[in-house]
Amino acid sequence: MTRGFDLSKAKRGEKLQLRLDAFELADGSTVSFPVTIIRGKKPGRTLYVGASAHGDEAYAAKAAAQILNEIQPDTISGTLICVTVENPLAFNARNRFTPLDDRDNNLSDAFPGKASGDLTDRMANVLHNQLLLKAEFVVALHTSDPEYRCIGYTIVPSVSSQDSSRRAFELGRIFGLDFIQGPAPGHSFPKSMTNVLTSFGKPAIIAELGDSRYDSEEEEISRKGVRGVFNVLKHLGMLEGEPELPISQSVLGERANLRADRGGFPIMTVKLGQNVSKGEKVATILNTFGKVVQTIRTPMSGIVLGRCFRPIVHSGDRFMIIGKIERRV
Ligand SMILES: [Zn+2]
Repeated sequence: MTRGFDLSKAKRGEKLQLRLDAFELADGSTVSFPVTIIRGKKPGRTLYVGASAHGDEAYAAKAAAQILNEIQPDTISGTLICVTVENPLAFNARNRFTPLDDRDNNLSDAFPGKASGDLTDRMANVLHNQLLLKAEFVVALHTSDPEYRCIGYTIVPSVSSQDSSRRAFELGRIFGLDFIQGPAPGHSFPKSMTNVLTSFGKPAIIAELGDSRYDSEEEEISRKGVRGVFNVLKHLGMLEGEPELPISQSVLGERANLRADRGGFPIMTVKLGQNVSKGEKVATILNTFGKVVQTIRTPMSGIVLGRCFRPIVHSGDRFMIIGKIERRV
C-alpha cells in the first residue's frame, strides 16, 4: 500500500502518475486513487483539482483527464495535483454515493474524514491528509446527474476567516461560470471538502459544470471544466495569459429546495435557467389515476438552478432548486 505520499517525489519539470492506495476489500484487492502530480520547471503555487467525489458525474472526471492531457510540466509554474476519480467505488458503479458502505455516504460532505471510519471516511481521510493539505488552493469538479440537471455555477464556501472566504469567492469568480453561489442561509455543509479546506486557510470551490446529459452537449460540459481550471491556473500565475470570463456574472444568495409531497408523474411548467416569480406555478404532479394531486409553486422569486428530469417522482424527491440573484459582478 502506498502510504505517506511525498510531493517532492515529483521532480521539477516532471509529470508523475501513480495510484495512491486507500484501503483493501474483502477479496484482497486494493481501492486506489489515480493521482497525477505535474511539477512545473519554475516554482509557483500548488493547486489541487479533484473530480467524481460523486461517482455518477463522469464528465467532471473526463474534464480532469482532458486537463492532464493538455498541461505539460514545461508550460506551468508551480505544482498541479490532480485526482481524476476521488470515489473509485462509486465511479465504477456509476453511483452517486459509495456502494459497499454501511449507508449511502456522500464523500463530498465527509471531510476531513476518519482513518478508523467507514469506507467513505477512509477515502476522505487519505485524500485530505495525503494530498489536499499539501495544496494552497482547491477546485472540486462536479456535474449534475442525468435525471436531475442544473445550470453551471460555482459554489463558494463561507467560513469564519474573512480572508479565506474572500479569496475563495475570487477563485469562484475566476473559474468563469455565469453564476456564483455565495453563502445561503440554511445551506451550510460544515463537513464539505471545500468548507473544511477553506477553514484551513486554503481557498476551495465547487464547480458545478451543469447539465450532464449523455448527448451532444457532452463535449461542452467537460470543456467548461477545462476552461475553468485553465482560468484558475492563469489567475494563480501558474499559466501564462488572462482568464476568459463572461461579460457579467450573477451572484446567488438565498435558495429554496423544493421537494415533491406526492408521488406520480411530474409535469414541469418552467425550464432550467428560467426566471420565476414568487408564487408562480412551477409544476404539477399527476397520479396514476390521472388526477392532479399537487401543484408546486415557488416560495420565492429567482432563477431555476436545478430541475428534476425524471419521468416519475416519489414523495420527498428533490424536485427543483430556485436561487435568488443578489447582484452582478
Ligand atoms: Zn456532485
